[in-house]
Amino acid sequence: MNLMLRRILIANRGEIAVRIIRACKEMGIDTVAIFSEPDRDALHVQLADQAICVGPAKAADSYLNIKNVLSAATVTGCDGIHPGFGFLSENPVFADMVKKCGITFIGPDGDVIRAMGNKSEARKRMQECGVPVVPGSDGGIETLEQGLAVAREIGYPVLIKASAGGGGRGMRRVFSEEEFESAFVAAKAEAKACFGDGEVYIEKLIQNPRHIEFQILADSHGNIVHLGERDCTIQRRNQKILEEAPSRALSPELREKMGADAVKAARAVGYQNAGTVEFILDRDGNYYFIEMNTRVQVEHPVTEMVTGVDIIREQIRIASGKPLKLTQQDVSINGAAIECRINAENPADGFRPCPGKVVGLHIPGGFGVRVDTALYPGCEISPYYDSMIAKVIVHGKTRSEAIRRMRRVLEEFLVEGIQTNVELQYMILHHEDFIKGRYDTGFLEKNLDSLIPGQ
Ligand code: ADP
Ligand code: ADP
Ligand code: MG
Repeated sequence: MNLMLRRILIANRGEIAVRIIRACKEMGIDTVAIFSEPDRDALHVQLADQAICVGPAKAADSYLNIKNVLSAATVTGCDGIHPGFGFLSENPVFADMVKKCGITFIGPDGDVIRAMGNKSEARKRMQECGVPVVPGSDGGIETLEQGLAVAREIGYPVLIKASAGGGGRGMRRVFSEEEFESAFVAAKAEAKACFGDGEVYIEKLIQNPRHIEFQILADSHGNIVHLGERDCTIQRRNQKILEEAPSRALSPELREKMGADAVKAARAVGYQNAGTVEFILDRDGNYYFIEMNTRVQVEHPVTEMVTGVDIIREQIRIASGKPLKLTQQDVSINGAAIECRINAENPADGFRPCPGKVVGLHIPGGFGVRVDTALYPGCEISPYYDSMIAKVIVHGKTRSEAIRRMRRVLEEFLVEGIQTNVELQYMILHHEDFIKGRYDTGFLEKNLDSLIPGQ
C-alpha cells in the first residue's frame, strides 16, 4: 500500500510555491520552502513550516543548484519534492537524482521528461502513435543544406525552433529562401545561448492559429483522463498572457477528438502525473501537436475553476501511488474561466521589467474570484527572476459573465510602487474581437497601439 507523502520540499518560489504550500496544508502534509538570499522575506518562506537558504540571488546558484536543493530535502527529512514550473521542473537529471535519494519526485519519470523535453524527438513519438504534428523536419536539422531542403519541401513560411526551447524563446519565422541562412545561423546561436543546446528543427509556420492545450492527469495504475482544454491564444512573442476555458474555437466534436489525442499522446510515452499537451489549431479546424509540458502549468487554475479539480492535490495523490478518483465521464466543464497574468513590466516602454518595492497593495476578491500571488504590502519584486507577480482568475456561469467579472476585478487591483500590465489586460477585456472570441495568436501584436495606454 502506498502512503501519502508526509513532508514535501517545494523547489520553487513566488506564487506557485505559495499555491503548492496551500495544497499541502489542506492535505495535512508538512512543507519545506527553499529560498535564495534576496528571497529571505518572501511569502513562500513565511508560509512554509520550515525554510532553508539554498544560495545567492542568481538562480543558477540557488533555485537551480541541484546539490543544495537535494541537501535541503535530505536534512529536513522530506519524502517528496514538488518542482512547480520553470527552474528544475523539466530537468530529467534532477528527477533522476531525487529518485536516487529515495525521495518521490512529484512529476513524471526522468525518462519521460527526457523523451518529451527534446521537442523534435517528441514530434517523432507523436507521429509514431498517430497524433497529428505540424508538417516539418524529422528530428533535428544538422546542416544548412538539410534545412533548406526541408523548408523547400514543406513550403514557406516556416518556423525554425529550438529542440530544447521553452518560454516562447528560440523561434524564428522565415518567409522566403533568401532569408533562410541568416535565420538558421541566428536560431542556432540563440538556442545554444539560451538553452545550452544549439539543435533546431523546422515546422511549417501555421498562419493565424489558436493555441489550444489539454490538461492531462495520469496515475500509476494506467488511468488517464483529460480535464478539457485551455485557450492560450492571447500571447506576446509566443508567451501566454491571458488564458481561458473553455475555448470558443472548439465544437463538442473537435473537443472530444483533441482530448482523445491528448490522452493517446500521454499513454504513448507512459506518462504519469499532471501534464499538458499543447496543440495549435488552424482556421480550417486542423490541429497539430506542438509540445508536451511535463509539469504543472502557470495557467492550471483556469481548469481548476471549470472542473472543480485541485490539480496540485491530484499531483501529490498520484505521486503517492493513489489511483485517480475520477473517470473521463466524471469530468464536466462548468461555466467559463479566465486568467490574466499580471507582470511587473511597463507595456508602454517595450514591456521592460519593472522590479521594485510594492508600497501599496489591494488584492481584489468577491464571488468567483481567485488571486494567486506572493505579493504583500512592502514586499520587494526581485530583478533576478520572472516578472510574473500575480495571476487573477475569475469564474462565471457564462463567458460574458466571466469577462464582466474580470473587468471589475482589474478595476479593483491596486499595486503601488511598480509598474504592471493590469491596464493592458483591462483593455484586452474591452476589445471587440476578444469579446466576440474572434482572435488568433497575432491579436496582441496587431492591436498593440490601441491596447497600450498612453501610446
Ligand atoms: P509555457 O512554457 O508553455 O509558456 P507556462 O505558461 O506554464 O508554459 O509558463 C512557464 C513559464 O513560467 C516559464 O517560461 C517562465 O518564463 C515562467 N516561470 C518559470 N518559473 C517561474 C517562477 N518560479 N515564477 C514565475 N514564473 C516562472
Ligand atoms: P514553447 O516551448 O516556448 O512554449 P511552443 O512550441 O509551445 O514553444 O510554441 C509557443 C507558441 O509559439 C505557440 O503557442 C504559438 O503561438 C507559436 N508557435 C509554435 N509553433 C508554431 C507553428 N508551427 N506555427 C505557428 N505558430 C507556432
Ligand atoms: Mg509551449
